Amino acid sequence: MNDDRYARHQLIPGWDQARLGEAQVIVVGIGALGNEVCRLLALSGVGRLLLCDPDHVETSNLSRTALFTAADLGRNKAEVARTRLQQLAPEIQLEVRPKPLVHGIGLAELRDADLVISCLDSRSARLQLAGRCNLVRAPLLDGGTHPWGGEVRPYLDPDGPCYGCSLTPGQRAVADDAVSCLNREVNRPVGASAAVSALIGARMSLIALRYLMGPSVPSASLVVDGLAGTTRQVSRTRDPECLLHQPVSEVRKLTVSHLDTLTALRLTLPGDAVPLLWENPQENPEASLELSDHPSDEPLKSLGIPPREILPVYHCEVISFVELCSPSD
Ligand SMILES: [Zn+2]
Repeated sequence: MNDDRYARHQLIPGWDQARLGEAQVIVVGIGALGNEVCRLLALSGVGRLLLCDPDHVETSNLSRTALFTAADLGRNKAEVARTRLQQLAPEIQLEVRPKPLVHGIGLAELRDADLVISCLDSRSARLQLAGRCNLVRAPLLDGGTHPWGGEVRPYLDPDGPCYGCSLTPGQRAVADDAVSCLNREVNRPVGASAAVSALIGARMSLIALRYLMGPSVPSASLVVDGLAGTTRQVSRTRDPECLLHQPVSEVRKLTVSHLDTLTALRLTLPGDAVPLLWENPQENPEASLELSDHPSDEPLKSLGIPPREILPVYHCEVISFVELCSPSD
């Protein structure tokens, strides 16, 4: 560790640089908010960042994103962020997944991360990430911006409330989102600025850093009103009716990875077992969720299965779970 680089950190009461250096954080969504969060965590010396975003840099991003320039237009956001973050903090480890969440990051990766951070811009994407985090009881920190403020929502206790708990059943089923870059009801962008992204990104990063270093952090959401200059806490309660509270049961680790074929996977299972997908393959939304309906000689990766995914398997009228190993194992 570079002691001079972090000399001022060491003067902060309660700061634990070594612990930060060992931390692994997944950031999903590398837009304006994701830029700020990644920048601050990298500068702080968080040991490993895994960045996930399928989108590309557009001109409208450039007024709000610290890590992107006009030369990056058309490039994947996560890839560009990795390049800039490596320049800012050469000692940290960076990995990118330029794909949608379900095809980019495996459930075992979410489970093993010290923290998952959501910088997403739609309710449906947040619900999807919250659901996957809940499957493996991963701590999640979610944030979003309004035109003049925003919200920070810690879901760090897997037995506490989740993102879905705060929504009505109708809201859980609808894909629009009031806290979003797009007002989907009228299909046009809503206002956003660098100052607000920095404000909310900094609040999220401070909570993330404190959580990673050990001290307890508030469980309530923060609602930041930039116009009034106020911040208030909003307590949330766990909704027993929320459908997202269904963690996977015991998981059996396999010796095949997402780079292996379906045939290799099936050889590890009973002959009449049916391995399943959580989502349809990205390139073929109409395809079957039963893996046995797909070509057996193609790598699992080609079906949209991410590294270290945990897959459901149907056998003898029971669903069990198997974990794909890391490609490097
Ligand atoms: Zn819930």
